[in-house]
Parts: sequence; C-alpha cells; structure tokens
Amino acid sequence: MSDETKQDRSQIETTTASSGSVGKALITGASSGIGAIYADRLARRGLDLILVARNRERLDALANRLADETGRSIEVLVADLNNNADLARVEQALRTDDEISMLVNNAGFGATAPLVNSDIDKMTEMIDLNVTAVVRLTYAVVPEFLKRGGGTIVNMASIVGIAPELLNGVYGATKAFVLAFSLSLHKELAAKHIRIQAVLPGATATEFWSIAGTSVEHLPSQIVMTADDLVDAAIAGLDQGELVTIPSLPEIADWDAYEKARQKMIPKLSLSSPAARYGITSRTHEKHQSTAL
Ligand code: NAP
Repeated sequence: MSDETKQDRSQIETTTASSGSVGKALITGASSGIGAIYADRLARRGLDLILVARNRERLDALANRLADETGRSIEVLVADLNNNADLARVEQALRTDDEISMLVNNAGFGATAPLVNSDIDKMTEMIDLNVTAVVRLTYAVVPEFLKRGGGTIVNMASIVGIAPELLNGVYGATKAFVLAFSLSLHKELAAKHIRIQAVLPGATATEFWSIAGTSVEHLPSQIVMTADDLVDAAIAGLDQGELVTIPSLPEIADWDAYEKARQKMIPKLSLSSPAARYGITSRTHEKHQSTAL
C-alpha cells in the first residue's frame, strides 16, 4: 500500500492509550450481517458496544450473547436511522457518551434493479440511510473525538463505489459518496488522531441481497465472501493502517495504481484554459485585461 493511503499506526496506539481503556464502539446496522459480525469481533477485542438498528429482538439476542461470552458492556439503541427523531437520539449518544472511541457507519441497503424499474421514494430512502445518516453521525462524533484527542470511524462503502455499473446506480452513487467522504475526512482529520477507514466489500453473503431484490444464491459462488471473512479482513486492514480496504482485491498494487492516477490528475483538474482537444481559444487573457480596466 502506498504511503498516501497508509495511515500512521502510532496514532491508533496513542488513541487507545490516552483513553486508558480499550474503548467503546457504536455500530449501526448491528442486528444482522456485517454489523453483527463487527459487534462480535470488537467485543472479543475488549470494546464495549452500543448496537444500533431497528429490530429490537435481534439486537437484544446479540447483546445478551456477547455480554455472556465476552463480559463486555453491550447497550442496545433501537433506532430507525431514516426517522429524524431516532437519528437525533443516536447523534445525542455520540455527543454525550465520552467513552465512545469508535463509530462503525455500517447500516445501509442496496438495490439490484436499474433506474427504470426502481421506485424513486425507495431510492430517496436509500440516500437518506446510506448518505445522510452517515454524514449526520460523523458530524455528531467528530467534535467529540477532537475534544477527546482521537477516535476511529469505519465507513462501510462498497466496491460499487468505484464500479457503479455493477448494480443499481443510486446505490453505487451512495457508496461513491461514502468513499469520497472518507478520503476527505482522512485529509482533514488524520493529523488530529482521528483514524478513518473506508471498507469496500464485494458481494457478501447477508440478507442485503434479498432486501436488494436478488437472492444471494443466484450469484456465482466464486464472487461471494462470507460476512465473517469480510469483517476479519476489514479489521486486519484497519490494524494495518489502511485508509481504504478492499477485502477481495488480490493485488493491492492495483488500488495503488488507481490512486496514483487520481493523485496525478489532481493538480491539473482546475486550470484557467480549456484543454487543447476542445479547440477553444482561451479568454483568460481578455478577462484579465478587462478586470485590469
Ligand atoms: P444486512 O444484513 O441487510 O444488514 C443491514 C443492517 O442495516 C441491518 O442490521 C439492518 O437492521 C440495518 N438497517 C437497515 N435499515 C435501517 C434503518 N433504516 N435504520 C437503522 N438500521 C437499519 O446487510 P449487510 O450486508 O450486513 O450490510 C451492511 C452494510 O454493508 C451496508 O451498508 C451495505 O450497503 C454494505 N455492503 C454490503 C454488501 C453485501 O454484498 N452484503 C456489499 C457491499 C457493501 P434492521 O433491519 O434491524 O434495522
């Protein structure tokens, strides 16, 4: 992994050491799939947890099991993140519980139908959950992490964030947002001891697929990972200091080349004249002259 995308591991250690304990993680979408596995793994690492989702029964069952098996404190916060009052309660927890050291923005849903077969209200709901809730929860916790001297935010993106052609376009666009948001958060917050990680899973065997409209059994098995493997790889990526973790990608050199090409373009993306290929005689000179008059 390139130096640009690798984060400073000493920051993680400083963050952990300064809190004097292993910390507490708030995980959204913890009632099933990837979020429930995160809950398991983080509790086993010694973190206390706040589990957020709509299904109380599932959250309670998971919380009881993990409390029994790990001895950690596991709280349940039942909330529909598409409901403003519920979302505000989760934001409030992030602002007021000063033991929280990690936010896992995992709740989300997708769709497999193309635009013409999709319900616009459902698409808006998807944007609200996959984008707006992620932004609001991040805005709630970052000022607190700054006051506490650090913290970690894991954002569940998707490979469709860089390959939006593969599934429903709105879903891909929400995950492109999550990736772009994560890169920007890293730029702004890394020096302030806030770790950011964007995780880009490929197809993972969870209820996501039936909710999205295609049963996971219909996918070729060679492209589907278990949620256990996915989360274990994502946590290994976090430990290795990755900013972007793509658990399936065999060669990290491929991501590094992609990132290098993007970085190479950055200084040339905003210039005073259109590119020569458009055949426009630049008015820059004229404009500067009229400003001078
Ligand atoms: P999942 O098993 O369907 O889990 C989704 C979680 O989000 C559930 O805990 C669900 O709980 C919660 N949730 C859904 N709507 C919610 C709402 N309005 N408010 C609060 N919580 C809500 O699917 P998953 O695969 O684990 O998905 C987790 C994340 O991974 C998502 O962001 C998804 O986009 C991403 N991802 C998944 C795949 C994949 O192939 N599975 C691939 C790439 C990325 P309740 O129903 O109890 O609220």
